[in-house]
Amino acid sequence: MVLKSKQFDDVYFSADGGLAETRHVFFDGNDLPGRWGGRSTFVIAETGFGTGLNFLATWKLFEETAGADQRLEFMSVEKYPLSRGEIAGALEVWRDDIGDYLDRYLALYPIRVPGPHRINLTDRVALTVWFGDIADVLPEWQTPVDAWFLDGFTPAKNPEMWGGALYRHMARLSHGETTYATFTAAGDVRRGLGVAGFGVEKVKGFGRKRDMIKGRYMGPEGRSGVTVPKQVAIIGGGLAGCAAGCALHKGGAEVHLYEAGDRLAHGASGGKLGMINPKLTAKPTPHSDYYTAAYANVLRVLAQFDDIDFQVCGSRHLCTDEDKDRRFAGYIDNLGWHADHICRDGDDLIYPDGAVVSPEKLCRALAENISVHLNHRVEALGEVEADIIILANGYAVKKLIGDDLPIHSVRGQVSWVKPQPNIHQNMCFGGYITPQTPEGFHVLGSTFQPWETDIAIKDEDHKDNLQRYNNAMHASLAGEGIIGGWAALRTSSKDRFPIVGSLNDRLYISTAHGSHGIISSLMAAEIIKAQACGFPVPASAAVLQALSPGRFDKR
Ligand code: SAM
Repeated sequence: MVLKSKQFDDVYFSADGGLAETRHVFFDGNDLPGRWGGRSTFVIAETGFGTGLNFLATWKLFEETAGADQRLEFMSVEKYPLSRGEIAGALEVWRDDIGDYLDRYLALYPIRVPGPHRINLTDRVALTVWFGDIADVLPEWQTPVDAWFLDGFTPAKNPEMWGGALYRHMARLSHGETTYATFTAAGDVRRGLGVAGFGVEKVKGFGRKRDMIKGRYMGPEGRSGVTVPKQVAIIGGGLAGCAAGCALHKGGAEVHLYEAGDRLAHGASGGKLGMINPKLTAKPTPHSDYYTAAYANVLRVLAQFDDIDFQVCGSRHLCTDEDKDRRFAGYIDNLGWHADHICRDGDDLIYPDGAVVSPEKLCRALAENISVHLNHRVEALGEVEADIIILANGYAVKKLIGDDLPIHSVRGQVSWVKPQPNIHQNMCFGGYITPQTPEGFHVLGSTFQPWETDIAIKDEDHKDNLQRYNNAMHASLAGEGIIGGWAALRTSSKDRFPIVGSLNDRLYISTAHGSHGIISSLMAAEIIKAQACGFPVPASAAVLQALSPGRFDKR
């Protein structure tokens, strides 16, 4: 049985053989693998991601035929993401052919939340799949495309997808060598492509289909290239810096990271265990779009590491008042997350994928393959030689780029608590408590003190943490339950949103990640890498604007 869509009453691929159809329609139609010969990066865009079969077959073909120094960027869009289980079931019949690729892909398949998901399958093959409607997603794409796979359901059953906007955006992203192919030969599609400036050639279709079409864009030459910077300098050895270093290194750059302290994770990234939760708003905003993508990204990325104390334990957010109740309802009603990933249990809000990780160990794991220079304080940007520099040194960015950036530090103290019964997931109640660390204590946090800069541990802060916990959890934990603690200064911005992006052609910034530093730092790293290299950026224009250092400029 071939997988069929409930929404469109149409099949995902031909009953005559999905994999053979991919090869006939999309590979032969776009003259692959020949077309990627001689290109350092080849960019494919697909309309309708479905199971990812086209992607998997393309990835395999690329591995088998491309040179070791070539990259594949595959972009796609999907309005109704399938579950991992549905995909595994539908593609199982091709295990002999694409099995190795399938397993890695399934392990990295995103949770079903709207927005961009950039998945680095290998150091040279990346998939950027946007979960959303093509009408909203296509305008966000900015990367020049070398080949199009037009694979929405048949135009008769899905006319919205095949409208004029599709062809206009295709033309916007195409250059003189761009080709497309599609399984359909419908008259409206041929006319639409022709009007937008594409040649239209009818050729033999796959299986029982008489015709399909393919063609080339007749517009001007001049595709802008992808250029990975050769030398990258990172300033700051916390999560923001280590994540950016790791991302650029995997992109192919030589990375040097400079840290003023005597070890990585020396500042706010030095906690024993940090929570992984999204930070949402009751209606869609660039802020909640960013944290949604960041949360989905971190869950995929961390699952690939060993020895970082990563544990998917789930998170429970207690509903402590009416305002929270309204907000929780808004997240569920308005943000389009699949119920597998957010739900209510009574009044509480549950993130089943909520997790913990050791930020300190994560920093070390991320920095493993890059050159780290400890005890090296960069006093001025002129000291650093590199094609690009990424400032990731928290509040101290001010010393390097001037005092105008509206950021401040916020002291936070956590308390380490002896094992408590029944705490096996993250519990959030204004404060929070994590499951046990491998060392055998819970992390209970956190104070929030924008006005303080002393990081010595204070008894009264432990009392604050305890009181919040006892009130919310109806517990009676006493001071003897606390076996230690840790305090650090986080960096936050005036609008409490991170600052991520370019200051000029050579200079990027990643700071002010605040209390959601784990998910935000890793997302920022992917965004900066994509911006610096010309890869598809996993963020909308509105998100990039909300993150940009320029948003504080006085008009
Ligand atoms: N390429 C897929 C594969 O390899 O499995 C098969 C694609 S299937 C024929 C078409 C896909 O387009 C479906 O998964 C469908 O949900 C998606 N789709 C249809 N209309 C869409 C829209 N307006 N925006 C985004 N995706 C859409």
